[in-house]
Amino acid sequence: MKTFLKSEKLNNVCYDIRGPVLELATRMEEEGQKIIKLNIGNVGVFGFDPPEEIQLDMIRNLHHAAAYSDSKGIFTARKAIMHYCQQKNIQGVEVDDIYTGNGVSELIVLAMNALLNDGDEILVPTPDYPLWTAAVSLSSGKPIHYLCDESKDWAPDLEDLKSKISSKTKGIVIINPNNPTGAIYSDEVLQQIVQMAREHGLIIFADEIYDKTLYDGHTHTSIASLATDVLMITFNGLSKNYRACGYRAGWMIVSGDKSGAKDYIEGLNMLSSMRLCANVPGQWAIQTALGGYQSINELVGEGGRLRRQRDLAYDLITKIPGVSCVKPAAALYLFPKLDPKIYPIQDDQAFIADLLRDEKVLLVQGSGFNWPHPDHFRVVFLPNEDVLRDAIKRLARFLEKYRKK
Ligand code: PLP
Repeated sequence: MKTFLKSEKLNNVCYDIRGPVLELATRMEEEGQKIIKLNIGNVGVFGFDPPEEIQLDMIRNLHHAAAYSDSKGIFTARKAIMHYCQQKNIQGVEVDDIYTGNGVSELIVLAMNALLNDGDEILVPTPDYPLWTAAVSLSSGKPIHYLCDESKDWAPDLEDLKSKISSKTKGIVIINPNNPTGAIYSDEVLQQIVQMAREHGLIIFADEIYDKTLYDGHTHTSIASLATDVLMITFNGLSKNYRACGYRAGWMIVSGDKSGAKDYIEGLNMLSSMRLCANVPGQWAIQTALGGYQSINELVGEGGRLRRQRDLAYDLITKIPGVSCVKPAAALYLFPKLDPKIYPIQDDQAFIADLLRDEKVLLVQGSGFNWPHPDHFRVVFLPNEDVLRDAIKRLARFLEKYRKK
């Protein structure tokens, strides 16, 4: 029998958020077991709806949405994104510098594919949102991980970052606000990253998909607003801030110094044309979303549902002996640490699979975010408070058994 092997391009590609432990959870569900899932930031399945005016406008525009659009996207969406750049102080952006995509996910892969040759290096944070590492590998590049420092509220370790720049480095990825840590980077840290990019001629890729999901009065600075003499590519979309993951509406903005990027931009345009265009109904939601009432503020402000859930999850998890956590300033996740003296875990994927089998709670292991030690895990705090209480009670019981082993 002829066998068909997967492409060797995939040998180094890994996306564990939807990896083997999720497969185990799916099998358990097929057997009729009920699993509490705190593994994926799929906002829509936890009773959060997109703002109604976005839904209505998309429905109203459906009759315009059956045809392909311009491969970079419909004009009104890109114009609204251009205005959003002005609000965020990203200078000099024109409609032509904006690409819409089927979520940020598609654009991350596109941006890496258009740039990288065998062995080209991209600096990616650890922990990271693992699509970045996977996209670099898939594009035959080499992800080089720089550390984020838990003792400094998970800010990038700038010394480590600097030490990893080589003659093969093409760019630096920053995820700000960060998934999985919930960190927001200070302007000083961002300025220093800009300076490194400037000195070494690197592109900055900034994933800012959580830029409105901010707690405790924090604000967010787009790194692209800090310089016009460095090439910057900024990613954002409707999935998180507008609770519309399934609309697949994301965008990418090219800004800063484009003088050396003519060829790269041709590559971006070519790949953008090859996929014809992004989901057009989703594009029709963008203008209304960006221009309308920003209802995320009610969810993340004092007493808002997301803020309450973050506080509850943080309080309950940090009460478990040997578990510590930097309180997330943004996004939808906690990234707690298990004290290795109390929990000498060797294989964090096996640990998370045991938790799933014993307590029917699904989390993601830290190594799924390319974290180099088996001592962290990620919790999504999107479920309501009752579900969070139940899930964390089960986690605490599992950890208690682990301590007594
Ligand atoms: N970037 C980050 C940091 C994310 O957390 C996610 C999804 O969880 C994405 C990108 C993907 O977003 P999209 O739904 O726009 O593809």
